[in-house]
Amino acid sequence: MNRWLEKSSWGLVVGCRVFGAHLTAALFPKRCLACRSILTANGINPMCFVCRQSLLPIRVPYCVQCGLPFENQSPEIQRTCGDCTAHPPQFESARSAFVYGEAVRSAVVHLKSAGNVRHARELVMLAQTAGVVPDWSDADAILPIPYFRKRLKQRGFAPTVMIADALAGPWKTKVLNQILFRVKETEPQRGKSAAGRRKNVRGAFEARPDVSGMSVILVDDVMTTGATLDAAAQSLRAAGAKSIRCYTLARALLS
Ligand SMILES: [Zn+2]
Ligand SMILES: [Zn+2]
Repeated sequence: MNRWLEKSSWGLVVGCRVFGAHLTAALFPKRCLACRSILTANGINPMCFVCRQSLLPIRVPYCVQCGLPFENQSPEIQRTCGDCTAHPPQFESARSAFVYGEAVRSAVVHLKSAGNVRHARELVMLAQTAGVVPDWSDADAILPIPYFRKRLKQRGFAPTVMIADALAGPWKTKVLNQILFRVKETEPQRGKSAAGRRKNVRGAFEARPDVSGMSVILVDDVMTTGATLDAAAQSLRAAGAKSIRCYTLARALLS
């Protein structure tokens, strides 16, 4: 091919790519993870300014075990909350990135309905930017909270696996999703009391003995009373897990 032709066809390729990118941006503009408003074309933030401002990252002081934020207390305070004292959970510690406010709720609902891997990565990126992803790179594996087989088939994807995959980078740890299984179909936890939630998920999980001696991190989207994570931790403990920590994108605070 002569040089002029070579140059002009390369220019054509670049031009088509640029045009294609503009067309994609025009047809499918990047939207705020939470309120779905259109974001500026070159912005790196996955959430609009208003939604980002409304996020409440969870920082100390909180319950040293379940991570429940304490109000109006010294950041140095080191104690467990009433629930952890009354019903000590099977996991060593649980931490959440944000209080389950409107923006996080919308983002999580969207992640669970759209199943877009990018959304999970962007939510984890927001948590990292806010400094609320603990350094747990000493763990052996990340275990996403599993779905019941029938529910997973209906949905077609597992949002908890997407969140776990997004955390595998920061924690430099592998995701194992063939260790923990949901063996019982449970009712939705919403609207149940703390005792009702515990009863609902009792015996819902089973773990393979492969986890014996491992230090693991359980990952879920939202933690409310921690009943689901505790039930999963119980099965991991029974299978011989050495240490169990939990991480969720959000923590719903019961009023
Ligand atoms: Zn927004
Ligand atoms: Zn607690």
